[in-house]
Amino acid sequence: MLIVDTDVVRVERRLRAGELTCPSCGAVLAPWGHGRSREIRGDLGSRLFVCPRRSRCTGCQVTHVLLPDVLWPRRTDAAEVIGAGLEIAALGMGHRQIAACLGLAEGTVRGWIRRFRRRAEGVRRYFTVALVALADDPVMPEAAASPLLDAVSVIAAAHQAAAVKWPTMNTVSLWAFAGRAIGGRVLTCTSPAS
Ligand SMILES: [Zn+2]
Repeated sequence: MLIVDTDVVRVERRLRAGELTCPSCGAVLAPWGHGRSREIRGDLGSRLFVCPRRSRCTGCQVTHVLLPDVLWPRRTDAAEVIGAGLEIAALGMGHRQIAACLGLAEGTVRGWIRRFRRRAEGVRRYFTVALVALADDPVMPEAAASPLLDAVSVIAAAHQAAAVKWPTMNTVSLWAFAGRAIGGRVLTCTSPAS
């Protein structure tokens, strides 16, 4: 699996031009049909239908689904929706209230927060390295009271640094950026093969 741009035309052009490379071996990815189509819940009850492109590595022959950065692997809610929930959780609100705010099931929101709590330190470290690499003069967010808030703060700082370095990143939302930067592993350590 590879997290790509949401612009399907640009992804298709890059795939056909041989500009996308295998996350495992670095060889060129070639078009290889489509992955399973899925329905994603966006914000305010919107629905998003996604049929991700699939590619096959010309080196190691492994197939990789090209997942648009508006969603994360194995999640049926858009990255933006989950991210909004994580941001509110980082500020200390409980999962029941967050679920009510977002109009989602409590169990769903509790699941995200639990996973993110387990991942928070790894995510914080990953985006701290990214921030140092992206910013000319990196300013580390101050340590907060919770690991969740620490993780969210450093993702936001890295996103800002990316937008300074590459102005086009301004149009990429915080959580789409996060997913793209960490290969979809905001809530899980391992990325599935498809
Ligand atoms: Zn490969």
